[in-house]
Amino acid sequence: MTNLTSGFCPRCGAPTEDGGLCGKCKAKDLVWAEIPERLECTICPTCGSVKTSGMWADSAVERDTIAYAIAKSAIKIHKDVTDVQTSIHIREASSNRSFIDVLVLGNLYGIPVERSAKIKFIWIHEQCDRCSRIAGSYYEGVIQVRAAGRLPTAFEKTRCAKIAYQLEDQMQNAGDRLAFVSDIEEIDGGIDITFSTQAIGNLIARDITGALGGSYTTHPKLIGEKNGTRLYRVTYSLRLPRFARGDVIFRDKTWCKILRQTKDTLFVQDLTTGLTRSFREDDEDPLLGNVNNAETAEVIYKDAGILGILDPADGSVHEIPDRQWMNAAPGDSVLFLRGKETITAVAKKEPDESSELPDEHTTTET
Ligand SMILES: [Zn+2]
Ligand SMILES: [Zn+2]
Repeated sequence: MTNLTSGFCPRCGAPTEDGGLCGKCKAKDLVWAEIPERLECTICPTCGSVKTSGMWADSAVERDTIAYAIAKSAIKIHKDVTDVQTSIHIREASSNRSFIDVLVLGNLYGIPVERSAKIKFIWIHEQCDRCSRIAGSYYEGVIQVRAAGRLPTAFEKTRCAKIAYQLEDQMQNAGDRLAFVSDIEEIDGGIDITFSTQAIGNLIARDITGALGGSYTTHPKLIGEKNGTRLYRVTYSLRLPRFARGDVIFRDKTWCKILRQTKDTLFVQDLTTGLTRSFREDDEDPLLGNVNNAETAEVIYKDAGILGILDPADGSVHEIPDRQWMNAAPGDSVLFLRGKETITAVAKKEPDESSELPDEHTTTET
């Protein structure tokens, strides 16, 4: 008879290759799975942000997913264990407590091993840096949007608010948690946009003037000092230009519709030729009105450079020049502005009218 083993386990006497501990006894000695009894997570009850090593970050996932990830990374398995299977089951007990059932299966030195444990998971509710600032109406400045010699249009006010909230989204997505719009208030003569950091305030003012024209001046006021840094509140005094987008003004012997504008340049459509051009703004140009207030008239006939349109106000017929660029035919409708003695067509009314123009009439094709 030959003995295949060269020794025996000193503890249980089972045959082993080298006379050391057998697999079963080695596995019994080893703490191969470390599972904590208690875990915790600090979470903002208002926005769901999670605090990790003293830093707040937005979290887009459910509480269960957060608990799962924390538990998973807290469970330590010895490197000698193979075929590891971990099951983590989360039960919510209350708003500030969950229980996590953990079951780990594996193979250690040829022996199947199993460990089950329960983790108590504590949710610590703490208002995050951003929510506590929002709750405290924190702000570092205000942009006062006004217009030169007129009131801002509804379009401009909506656009300003949209720009502010878009920048807030962009900056939050880029990780600037504390950049937010504290408040937007419509007041007589314009709107006030209150903001939380100088960075976002500066961008909002820049983007509004970039989109709507005009300019601004800044007026900082020292409000205190924090950790050796001087704190300022900055008032932006923003003036939208004399003319707004959609205004029809008289320049170079023709009416021009303002398509867009930058600091002091107007980009217009010449309503005689239909062509686009640009020139510097001049407050002295006569203003006819804004296309957002245009009326609609039906084209009754077309004859040798003339369009006959039906005045919706009194049913009378006006003859206006048939502008080639407008390409209107009998049955079409045109948008027009009424001057003291003139009727000026500003566009053919398309069935899919852009939203900045009134759309209370629907055009039916016959
Ligand atoms: Zn043994
Ligand atoms: Zn929060």
